[in-house]
Amino acid sequence: MAFELPPLPYPTNALEPHIDAKTMEIHHGKHHAAYVNNLNNALKDHPDLQAKSATDLIRDLAALPEAVRTPVRNNAGGHVNHSLFWTLMTPGGSSSPAGKLATDIDAKFGSFADFKTKFEDAGVKRFGSGWVWLVKKGGALEIISTPNQDNPIMAEYGATPILGNDVWEHAYYLNYQNRRPDYLKAWWNVVNWDLVAKQYA
Ligand code: MN
Repeated sequence: MAFELPPLPYPTNALEPHIDAKTMEIHHGKHHAAYVNNLNNALKDHPDLQAKSATDLIRDLAALPEAVRTPVRNNAGGHVNHSLFWTLMTPGGSSSPAGKLATDIDAKFGSFADFKTKFEDAGVKRFGSGWVWLVKKGGALEIISTPNQDNPIMAEYGATPILGNDVWEHAYYLNYQNRRPDYLKAWWNVVNWDLVAKQYA
């Protein structure tokens, strides 16, 4: 049983003007699809590993045969990250979190505005390609960034992702070119806080 590319939960132009249709088309249809294909290729001789979820595969990379460890890290990581990423966004977004997430963000970061500034800053500072995350670690909220397609659930991070933004150039270059800070700022307009807060609670 092969891993499959999940459909986008909205049309490719739904997040315009903040994320353009062409970027979404290539990001989902080419980049995410490539992670899925590469994962299937990496596991073609490992039916036992094909039976696991992509999340379970990356949770304990040390348990994998060495020959597939790096391709699984990169491609199951890419599959898990993007599958989550599409759901974290919605046309029109929702302006801010509510409930326990809002309270915990204020308690940890001072205010929602301060949280956004710190998250953008961590995304700007991620050198090269990677992700910026709001995670829960040891019961507390934290902002972290990871390189490449690493996900916070990998053992070395030991955290649960709440929210994540893709800061690979492929996520923004067509529309924003080198202006990663502008992309990070615009991204707040499409975040699905209703869903994020609900999952957090
Ligand atoms: Mn990406």
